[in-house]
Amino acid sequence: MSRSNINQSISKAESICQETGVKLTVKRKNVLTILLHSNLPLSAYELAEEYKVHFEESLPTMSVYRMLDFLTQENLAHKLASTNKYVSCSHIACEHQHEIPQFLICDQCQSVSEIGVKKEIIKALNQSVKKVNFSLSSQQLELHGICEVCQKKASKK
Ligand SMILES: [Zn+2]
Ligand SMILES: [Zn+2]
Ligand SMILES: [Zn+2]
Repeated sequence: MSRSNINQSISKAESICQETGVKLTVKRKNVLTILLHSNLPLSAYELAEEYKVHFEESLPTMSVYRMLDFLTQENLAHKLASTNKYVSCSHIACEHQHEIPQFLICDQCQSVSEIGVKKEIIKALNQSVKKVNFSLSSQQLELHGICEVCQKKASKK
C-alpha cells in the first residue's frame, strides 16, 4: 500500500472509531500502521518485533493481542484463523458496509487478498451448516492456493 493510501486509511480509521465511540489510541494506531505497511500477514510476535524497530518501544505480547482484538472487533484488521496471523482490512477507506470477508491466501508467498462474499453464498452456506446442526463461531472464509504473481513465476521457469 502506498504512503498516501496508508495515511488515508489511518484518518478514515480515526473517524470510524470516533463515530462508534471507541478510542484509537496512539499504540493501537501504531499497530494498525504496521499492518498497513506490511505486504504480508503478521503474527502477534512479528508485530511486537516490528513495533520495537519502528517505534522504539517493547510491548508485552499480551498487550499486542489486546490491541489486535480491538482492531479486529472494529473491522480495521482481520485475524486469519488458519495461519494465526493478522492483516489490515483492505476496505478501511471504502464507503461501503463491511461484508463477511473471504481471504485468498497464497501458500507460496503468504500474500493475502480480501474479497467480500455475496450474501446469497453466505445464506446457502449457513443453510447447509444448519442441516447438520452445526453452530458456526465465524463465517469468515479462508481459501488457500497460489496467487497470480506466483503462478506467473512458476510458468516462466
Ligand atoms: Zn475487511
Ligand atoms: Zn471496499
Ligand atoms: Zn503468491
